[in-house]
Amino acid sequence: MNVLRSFAFQNPTKLIFGKGQLEQLTTEVPKYGKKVLLVYGGGSIKRNGIYDNVMRLLSGIGAEVHELSGVEPNPRHTTVNKGGQICKEQGIELILAVGGGSVLDAAKAIAVAAKYDGDVWDIVSKKVPVPTEAVPIGTVLTLAATGSEMNSGSVITNWELNEKHGWGSPAVFPKFSILDPEHTASLPKDHTVYGIADMMAHVFEQYFHHDPHTPVQDGFCESILRAVIQTAPKLVEDLTNYQYRETILYSGTMALNGTLSMGVLGDWANHGLEHAVSAVYDIPHGGGLAILFPNWMTYVLDENVGRFKQLAVNVFGISADGKSDRDVAEEGIKALRSFWTSIGAPSRLADYGIDDSKLDLMADKVLAAGGQVGHFKALNKEDILAIYRMSL
Ligand code: NAP
Ligand code: FE
Repeated sequence: MNVLRSFAFQNPTKLIFGKGQLEQLTTEVPKYGKKVLLVYGGGSIKRNGIYDNVMRLLSGIGAEVHELSGVEPNPRHTTVNKGGQICKEQGIELILAVGGGSVLDAAKAIAVAAKYDGDVWDIVSKKVPVPTEAVPIGTVLTLAATGSEMNSGSVITNWELNEKHGWGSPAVFPKFSILDPEHTASLPKDHTVYGIADMMAHVFEQYFHHDPHTPVQDGFCESILRAVIQTAPKLVEDLTNYQYRETILYSGTMALNGTLSMGVLGDWANHGLEHAVSAVYDIPHGGGLAILFPNWMTYVLDENVGRFKQLAVNVFGISADGKSDRDVAEEGIKALRSFWTSIGAPSRLADYGIDDSKLDLMADKVLAAGGQVGHFKALNKEDILAIYRMSL
């Protein structure tokens, strides 16, 4: 029977969206206590003034603020452990993450590290059961990409082992997330584009499935993709335009807050392949996805040509008149590659100086947790190597 998979959906994050909404910190933070750990990255929030505004508001409510700065893009477990230690020593009551997905993901891991006696890598690598306890987290997002602001996932890198893993727990949904499009206006073009590729990749990961009757989910996915495709070229030419930033910011959240995957089994192979590339070469996540995804699409096309044709017609506006389904589907994949190239995304691993010397190592890393990855097509090592080679 063509019905949805059974599902339960619960997303407890309070999303606070719009210009000037940072002020809401003064009502949200006191709900959790006075002892705050402010977590941020390499300094962008100091240059664009967000740090000063956050500190002014926190001091206005008498918060005791401790700081953990220097969270790396592709955040490290060692930095997370430092944050966990501060939480334990200071009795932190709220972790406030101010930054992009890396800062938010690090905050989630700090929140559970604070309640765990040991190395957070045990949790990330799933050596121990999924944690159920965490320090509450609030976020102020400055980069549209990951959806981390409204989901329970986190991605952490162990640079000593060259491993990068996603993990998650319902305990680390942010209690609140403040999204002001103006906070993303200082983001340079390259990271704006990586974020756009990442959010589109999140939609694709959930769009490519074999569940037969998903008209509502398909419509959600296609409408996000169309909005992003219409907006992104204008945004990269006008990086401080509020309206374009707003559309992209909202798209990033909706792409990965659980809405699109209700009742369907998404694929997620490309995130696995990309994490292995980032773990070895430390490249930006969205850049890696932009390189890999169209090649994965070409490689798995015959699993379900109709699905790719639907993407081509409904998202890229390709005419199906007088053409075979396969031709239409292939035109759609080409349109995606051209779109990403047109906004400045990379298209080859060589763009990051990556050659074929470590493909085998990366493929093994993708499969470390099991013999295959992906649901739309379960990929084995040969499949993964083929996609990496297509991406050189
Ligand atoms: P990011 O790594 O958080 O940030 C990238 C760069 O952008 C940093 O150098 C940061 O500088 C800078 N930046 C951030 N906001 C800025 C602003 N408003 N103005 C100027 N510069 C700004 O990028 P991201 O794409 O959001 O996060 C990537 C990470 O998230 C990866 O590790 C990826 O695997 C993971 N991820 C997580 C999920 C999830 O569901 N949790 C999903 C997909 C990917 P500063 O450090 O100086 O702030
Ligand atoms: Fe992602």
